[in-house]
Amino acid sequence: MIYNVKFLVDAMLGTLAKKLRIYGFDTLYAKDMNDSELIELAISESRILVTSDRVLGKKCSSKGGSCVVAVGRDDTERIAEVFRFISVNPVLDSSNSRCPICNGALVEVDGSKIDEVIPKATAKRYNRFFMCKECKKVYWEGSHWAKLREFDRRVRGYLG
Ligand SMILES: [Zn+2]
Repeated sequence: MIYNVKFLVDAMLGTLAKKLRIYGFDTLYAKDMNDSELIELAISESRILVTSDRVLGKKCSSKGGSCVVAVGRDDTERIAEVFRFISVNPVLDSSNSRCPICNGALVEVDGSKIDEVIPKATAKRYNRFFMCKECKKVYWEGSHWAKLREFDRRVRGYLG
């Protein structure tokens, strides 16, 4: 599933930006931008600004931008706030993910053809591999996916 919603996440919420990419959302992470630059970029690229700064949220809304002020205590609560805002209940699926590092699109690759970049044991153990079209990093549903699934369960708990 390709979502037609795109995000711009402010500097305070880097780990949230990565998670939104893993869920498959086109997400820019703005490390060094001031408030006006953030708002301008969000509006010009039709991105929803995600911030924990209420003042920035107000400024963005007053200029006609779309903004989620995510004030939850952790990424679980914050991402639930984002999903509630867009009224979407996303599915965690590695074949739909974007690169958490650079936001590039991923393509499925044959494990036997990328044995120079992944350990042999890994190639044997997992079936599906995905490569970032931009930075060429390779992903598979390794041990960190158990944590992501647990995270996803907690998010669903909040969404009810
Ligand atoms: Zn990448």
